[in-house]
Amino acid sequence: MLTAPNSLRGKLTPSAPLAPLVWFKAGGAADWLFEPADADDLCAFLAALDPAVPVMALGLGSNLIVRDGGVPGVVVRLGKAFGKVSSDGDTLTCGGGASGIAVSSAARDAGVAGLEFLRGIPGTVGGFVRMNGGAYGREVADVLVDVTIVTRDGRIETRPASALGYSYRHSKLADGEIVIAARLKGQPGDKAAIQAEMDRIAAAREASQPLRTRTGGSTFKNPHPHKAWELVHNAGCRGLRVGGAEVSEKHSNFLINSHGARAADIEALGELVRAHVLRDSGVALEWEIQRVGRVKP
Ligand SMILES: Cc1cc2nc3c(=O)[nH]c(=O)nc-3n(C[C@H](O)[C@H](O)[C@H](O)COP(=O)(O)OP(=O)(O)OC[C@H]3O[C@@H](n4cnc5c(N)ncnc54)[C@H](O)[C@@H]3O)c2cc1C
Repeated sequence: MLTAPNSLRGKLTPSAPLAPLVWFKAGGAADWLFEPADADDLCAFLAALDPAVPVMALGLGSNLIVRDGGVPGVVVRLGKAFGKVSSDGDTLTCGGGASGIAVSSAARDAGVAGLEFLRGIPGTVGGFVRMNGGAYGREVADVLVDVTIVTRDGRIETRPASALGYSYRHSKLADGEIVIAARLKGQPGDKAAIQAEMDRIAAAREASQPLRTRTGGSTFKNPHPHKAWELVHNAGCRGLRVGGAEVSEKHSNFLINSHGARAADIEALGELVRAHVLRDSGVALEWEIQRVGRVKP
């Protein structure tokens, strides 16, 4: 059992299936799923929680393999209360649960340029701040002013972007730290030009990525100076299958749950691709997709 304050206003669910909440639509259940009513509710919950219980944040699960044995401890999912975006000059204040499309659309409406790249990242502010998400030559590290988090022991802290130790698709936010808001800065721009750039990005992604499938985005980081998709393609892995999982024919750095895959199939396919690429090119690919939880015995 968990110790939760009586005053809790959010929703706490035991044995909550996570497959419906992630893009791959595969994987096990969270021991507990907590959907806080607001930041105070989250703080009170974490402050009362046994420090030994692991805590993990979940966004839209667009870069995640949840293993079949489920996730130990508490998974925190931010709902509507964390989805707001407001602007002040060329700076946007975004809730940790706001989507990339909501942020880029709000920036357009406010005449703020430079955040168009977020149009193509189908995750939340919390996810892309943690992952240093990026596309088309820009990444979150280029636009983040500061981030507000709730620490594992339930305190609210605001940290400047420089404290996040950003590198390619990586920050040093600790496990159990939940991003509840971020301020992103662009520059004044013309609304029609911003919309045109967002449309260009949307069309480019439609043409090159399997958007309407059960996937997890880019599987492997691009190992400088190579492109991961090219190494996977050259190793002959396009269309390769394990169980119900396959390497996308459209974009070879995307794995797809095409035939009722288990999370174990998806992860095993990723490892098989890594082995083929290592043999073919000598490059050891590094996972970009986060793999979490317990392997099912
Ligand atoms: C079709 C498709 C295209 C994609 N294209 C891109 C792309 O162009 N560029 C790119 O960078 N990524 C891309 N991705 C990957 C993905 O969208 C990003 O990594 C995104 O930032 C993940 O956000 P999320 O909210 O879904 O996070 P999740 O997948 O739910 O979680 C990812 C990680 O972030 C952590 N996390 C989530 N929310 C929070 C929070 N509130 N506080 C702290 N940590 C949190 C999780 O614990 C986990 O470690 C793509 C994915 C798909 C499916």
